[in-house]
Amino acid sequence: MAGSEAAWQAASLGVPVILHEMRGVKETPAHKTDHLAELVCSNSFRSDDHELNAVGLLHEEMRRCNGLLIRLASDHQVPAGSALAVDRDGFSAAVTNVLEKHPLVTIVREEVPTIPSPDWSSVIIATGPLTSDSLAHSIGALTDEADLAFFDAIAPIIEFDSINMDVAWRQSRYDKPGPQGDTAAYINCPLTEEQYNAFIDALLAGEKTEFRDWEKDTPYFEGCLPVEVMAERGRETLRFGPLKPVGLTNPRDPDVKPHAVVQLRQDNALGTLWNMVGFQTKLKYGAQSDVFRMIPGLENAVFHRLGGIHRNTFLNSPKLLDDQLRLKKQNRLRFAGQVTGVEGYVESQAMGLLAGRFAAYERLGLPVTPPPATTALGALLGHITGGHIAAGGSFQPMNVNFGLFPEVTNVPNKTEDGKRLRGKEKGRAKKRIMTARALNDLHQWLEELGPEVQPA
Ligand SMILES: Cc1cc2nc3c(=O)[nH]c(=O)nc-3n(C[C@H](O)[C@H](O)[C@H](O)COP(=O)(O)OP(=O)(O)OC[C@H]3O[C@@H](n4cnc5c(N)ncnc54)[C@H](O)[C@@H]3O)c2cc1C
Repeated sequence: MAGSEAAWQAASLGVPVILHEMRGVKETPAHKTDHLAELVCSNSFRSDDHELNAVGLLHEEMRRCNGLLIRLASDHQVPAGSALAVDRDGFSAAVTNVLEKHPLVTIVREEVPTIPSPDWSSVIIATGPLTSDSLAHSIGALTDEADLAFFDAIAPIIEFDSINMDVAWRQSRYDKPGPQGDTAAYINCPLTEEQYNAFIDALLAGEKTEFRDWEKDTPYFEGCLPVEVMAERGRETLRFGPLKPVGLTNPRDPDVKPHAVVQLRQDNALGTLWNMVGFQTKLKYGAQSDVFRMIPGLENAVFHRLGGIHRNTFLNSPKLLDDQLRLKKQNRLRFAGQVTGVEGYVESQAMGLLAGRFAAYERLGLPVTPPPATTALGALLGHITGGHIAAGGSFQPMNVNFGLFPEVTNVPNKTEDGKRLRGKEKGRAKKRIMTARALNDLHQWLEELGPEVQPA
């Protein structure tokens, strides 16, 4: 995904590209063909609604940036309501065909087994969640083993607005100050003994997903055990682990010690998203929302992403990459796609689009300006290269979502005919304002880049 889009973007700007793809000579555990841009699982690029949906907005922004994959996806669309789903074979055959025929693109079918030597002066590594073992080890050696993950161990992420702060409260354990002196970094949700027991019963009973055969052998560390596996080890395990109630005082009931406490940690710089500490899980999605909404304070939680554990190779990008997707340590190397910690076909393409453009601008001696943070491209880029709170080592892959965008303040309270806007209607009005702002700012950004970097 990302590699194909990056190659197209750079070549469209007149910069020659060599695209190294190992499939054809070496397989991955999930791909089935040797086509470029193969969809490994679902055939959906998700919602195509660019007014009310963040991924739909990303589609539209890529269309306006001469995105190849998004254009060919529309050419090979199959009926799927408001989603953009594609005929997978037609789509990836078309991508392969365009790139094979492009005069500035050379496709070499080989594995790149290590980080290329310094005589490769401009490199984009877009080898995805299933980066070959040999290259993954080479990347790990260059960065730091601890900054390259082999599993998503994702804890659910919740929208701040949906947390009931009449029940939950802010406090750090033992009021311990953080680097900025803040003693209230966490959101705490208290459970009584009865609530804790009911929660453990539901956790144990909830339906789980299994590891796939090829995932079973990937090392799986104690540090990220699924929450339900911890619960299986003993009823009290969680109460002495991530749910321990010590060092926390409920301000509404200071004399009563909670039996257990679920903590949420801030997940983005804007403070709009919070992750559930220690809640990586293999529970099925439906079971997760039901079970986690039993936690006091989370009765109406809106989950921005649910938890999961999957094989996935990705960097600790907020620490390692600059805002042009370059490795800070060796800036001839750029990364793109899922390996940067974005999640999904569309987000991977988007990071390929930016990496391809940035590398081409650099080659052409032009200034490289990242897209504004108010656009979907900029919000996603900002999240992986800095917006995510890297402290605590909790960086986990992310889909594009409105929680990554800077807030808007001009949401009207009433409709044009004077009716009061409430709940969902107000949410929709806010999204419309955000998406209009994004497309306007994207237009400005493209204009300011000047005619020389507009693709022929
Ligand atoms: C099993 C599975 C199912 C998924 N299902 C979905 C889904 O349904 N929907 C969704 O949106 N996302 C899904 N994803 C997540 C993700 O969006 C896709 O994996 C997406 O293809 C990532 O794009 P990418 O460009 O980063 O990597 P890829 O599309 O995987 O491209 C990376 C390419 O690099 C090649 N490569 C790897 N190592 C080397 C090397 N050393 N030398 C040369 N070539 C190499 C690979 O052969 C591959 O072609 C899934 C991921 C997996 C693993």
